[in-house]
Amino acid sequence: MKAVLFHTHGGPEVLEYTDFPTPEPGEGQVLVKLKAAALNRLDVWVRNGWPGIKLDYPHIPGADGAGTVAGLGGCVSGWNIGDRVVINSNLGCGKCPACIAGQDNRCRDWRLLGETVRGTYAEFVAVPAANLYPLPEGFEARAAAAAALVFHTAWHSLITRGGLKPGESILVVGASGGVNTACIQIAKLAGATVYAVGSGQEKLALAESLGADHLIDRSSDENWPKAVFNLTGKRGVDVVVDNVGTTFPSSFRASAKGGRILTVGNSGGPKFEIDNRFIFGKHLSIIGSSMGTKADFATVMDLIFAGKLKATLDRDYPLAEAREAQVRLEKGEQLGKITLAID
Ligand SMILES: [Zn+2]
Repeated sequence: MKAVLFHTHGGPEVLEYTDFPTPEPGEGQVLVKLKAAALNRLDVWVRNGWPGIKLDYPHIPGADGAGTVAGLGGCVSGWNIGDRVVINSNLGCGKCPACIAGQDNRCRDWRLLGETVRGTYAEFVAVPAANLYPLPEGFEARAAAAAALVFHTAWHSLITRGGLKPGESILVVGASGGVNTACIQIAKLAGATVYAVGSGQEKLALAESLGADHLIDRSSDENWPKAVFNLTGKRGVDVVVDNVGTTFPSSFRASAKGGRILTVGNSGGPKFEIDNRFIFGKHLSIIGSSMGTKADFATVMDLIFAGKLKATLDRDYPLAEAREAQVRLEKGEQLGKITLAID
C-alpha cells in the first residue's frame, strides 16, 4: 500500500510518501481501506517527538480516518466487507476495570491510533473491530474523519465531565482550533450562552458562524477577563474551556463563583504559575480529561450524522502531499480541519 511515514523524528522533511506492507488484521481486528484522514496537532508533536516517546519505526501518523471494511481478522462479527466506517482512535484494552466500566479512555493500557500505533496516513489501517462506528450512506468520509477526534474530545470534556447544562454561560478561550470550534457548537446545542475569546476578526467570525453569542478580540483587548466580567454583569461565566493552559490565571478571573475550568490540552505550553487563592476563594473546580469513551463517540457521531454538529473543513490534500498539509497546520494557516484524500 501507499503510506506516509517517517524513520526518525524531525521537521516535515522526515515525512515520506512511499510503499509499505498492507497490515494484516489480527484477532479482533478489521482492515479498513481509508478514503479520508484528518490531521491533528498531535501528528506534528509525534513527528517532532518528545522525551520518552517510543515508536516502532517506520511510524505512520494519523488518528482520524474513515473508509470501508476491507478485511476481517479472527473472532470478528457484525462487520462485512464493504461496510462504511469511521474510526474511534481511542484504543483501550477492553479488559481492565476502566474499560469494563465504560471508561475506556482511562484504560491502564490506553493508546491512541497514530501516536504510538501506526495510523491513518495510509491506504489501509488495521484497528480493533470495537473501534469502528458505522458511517451512514451518503455521509462524506472526509466530514466524518474531520469530526471524529475533536468532537469526541470536546463532547467528553463539556458534557460527560463538565456537566454543561442549558442556561449556563461558557467561555471558550481560543476560538479557532479544532476542539474549541467543536466546543462552541456543542455548547450551543446544549443550550448554553457562549462567549469566545480569539485573536483577530477572521477567527472570531468563524466562532460567530458556529453560534458564539459574544465575541472578544484579544488582539485588541488584552484584558479579556475584564471584558467577560463586564459582559456578564460582573458575575463571570459558569464554565471556562481552557485548552491553552498558560491562560489559566485569566480563566480563573473570568470564572463565576463555583465555576468549572475544563481542559483537554495546552496549546500555550504545559507549565505556568497559578494563584491558588482564586481556586478556593471562588470555589473553582478544575476538570481535566483526555479524548472520550466509546459511548461518547457513538453519541457525538450520531449528532454529526444528523447534521446537528459539523466539522469546519479547511483544505483537502492528496495523501502524497501530507507533508505540505502538516506545514500548513504548523504555520497555523488553517481555519478548520485539514484533511487527506486517499484513493
Ligand atoms: Zn483497558
